[in-house]
Amino acid sequence: MDDCIFCRIANGEIPSATLFEDDDFRVILDLGPATKGHALILPKQHYANIYELPEELASKAILLAKKMAEAMSEGLEADGFNIVQNNGEAAGQTVFHFHMHLIPRYEKDGAGIGWKPGKLTDEIKEEILNKVKVK
Ligand code: AMP
Ligand code: ZN
Repeated sequence: MDDCIFCRIANGEIPSATLFEDDDFRVILDLGPATKGHALILPKQHYANIYELPEELASKAILLAKKMAEAMSEGLEADGFNIVQNNGEAAGQTVFHFHMHLIPRYEKDGAGIGWKPGKLTDEIKEEILNKVKVK
């Protein structure tokens, strides 16, 4: 994926502020941070989104997210931590190379991460329970 910016960053072709690197991933600082320390976990291989990501890499990614959450929260003295992962334009994905956002949170940081709660009606609940089949 020559034209994928995250492929090039993850594989070191483009320099980045790297917090951590191993054989499978690079963790970099986001250039448009939501809060101080906002970072991204990038797999070195190209997968567009969570649907494409192999299970083994998905397992490794969540373990790395845990390790990063611990190190970043301690080092940056964060009060909380969000892990965000967008898939598809409708979900806010803008770079189509799988990534996980690591967002340290601080009391009153004002970062707008969230949603307006709706209401789960009985009808919608039944529809969803009937439609979602986990293989
Ligand atoms: P998403 O909207 O989930 O696809 O997230 C893309 C993220 O990548 C945004 O938070 C951007 O600020 C960040 N981003 C885009 N280009 C770069 C780059 N070259 N280096 C670091 N972060 C980037
Ligand atoms: Zn890529």
